[in-house]
Amino acid sequence: MTAVGQTDAEILEQVARLTAVVDGLSTAVVICDSTGQVTHRNLVAKVMHGTHSGLLIEEVIDRHLAVATHQHSELLAAEELDLFGPPRQVMVVRAMRLDHGGAYALIEDVTERRRIDSVRTDFVANISHELKTPVGALAVLAETLVEEEDLDIVRRISARLFEEAHRAAHTIDDLLELSRIELDGGRYTESVNVAEVAAAALVRAAPLSEGNQIAVEVQIDGPLTLRANRRQLESALGNLVENAVKYSESGTTVTVECRLQGTYIDFVVSDQGVGIPVQDLDRIFERFYRVDKARSRGTGGSGLGLAIVRHVATNHRGEVLVSSEEGRGSRFTLRIPHRIPDRLEDRESESESEFSSDQFTTTRNPPHEERNSPS
Ligand code: ADP
Repeated sequence: MTAVGQTDAEILEQVARLTAVVDGLSTAVVICDSTGQVTHRNLVAKVMHGTHSGLLIEEVIDRHLAVATHQHSELLAAEELDLFGPPRQVMVVRAMRLDHGGAYALIEDVTERRRIDSVRTDFVANISHELKTPVGALAVLAETLVEEEDLDIVRRISARLFEEAHRAAHTIDDLLELSRIELDGGRYTESVNVAEVAAAALVRAAPLSEGNQIAVEVQIDGPLTLRANRRQLESALGNLVENAVKYSESGTTVTVECRLQGTYIDFVVSDQGVGIPVQDLDRIFERFYRVDKARSRGTGGSGLGLAIVRHVATNHRGEVLVSSEEGRGSRFTLRIPHRIPDRLEDRESESESEFSSDQFTTTRNPPHEERNSPS
């Protein structure tokens, strides 16, 4: 029996239980005795111990444990380690003294948290920048207008004011649409008629296509329906058709083909427009990325359209493919499973990583070959 009335067997059982709990933690834990000798590493710490970055962290853990075991010294503040990898990792090490001698260190992998933080910060900076430009222009134009008496100039400035206001409104609309799609816990099991989705996309692009004399032809391979989120599909296809029209010269044709492709339905939008330089193909799905800023601004582009398309594709467990040739045209394929899996519980955790997946690398494909959007 011990002083507190526990038998050795009871103590052993308690130690085994606590060890199991410590081993089950997702944070690495290293425990040392009062001489600084490591007496226990939990499972995560053991895995880390054998790696290259583990060696670098070990030195920091030893330093923190040495300080923590030394009763009279100040404890070190938590230390953040940036390990350049690959893969790049950010770890936080902190140690605490144990009441009956020794100390323990906690080593937390905060790589994902830091990555999401930095993407969010970039996103906010991007939004501010994108909205500041038209709002700044609006202020300058309005100021000029106040003093202007020449009717012709007043008319010109008013037209510019209208354009800039329209651009800011368009960016805000796209931002709202993107965040709605990112957060959409919506239903993915509506019965959606493909012909209706195509019709909605055409209506959306009609003001541009009619204004620029661009014909839009639709071919649907039989009566097609799929289980999906109608609103999202309409938004994605609408963006693709609008882009095809926007980046085409008048007198050309845009085609929208919808067909069954195995277990997928492909929505293929082809144009005979300006095309996309091969070095930009990997980046066009990033938020606010534009190949030709001047042209995109002129057409009221927010730089968010393809980010929306990609998000809709990933939400549906699908993909977007692109092939393009400068001066000849582009072809975007939105590929959506005919019936997406019913179990989408993991959507929420994935959408967080999607949030930050704008930066991506893909293996370089030869020109003209279809490329996958990042997912
Ligand atoms: P934007 O609002 O600027 O059109 P998007 O995200 O829809 O933004 O597209 C990103 C960029 O990709 C565009 O700025 C444009 O340079 C390019 N792009 C998209 N679709 C096409 C297309 N069909 N033809 C040529 N370039 C395109």
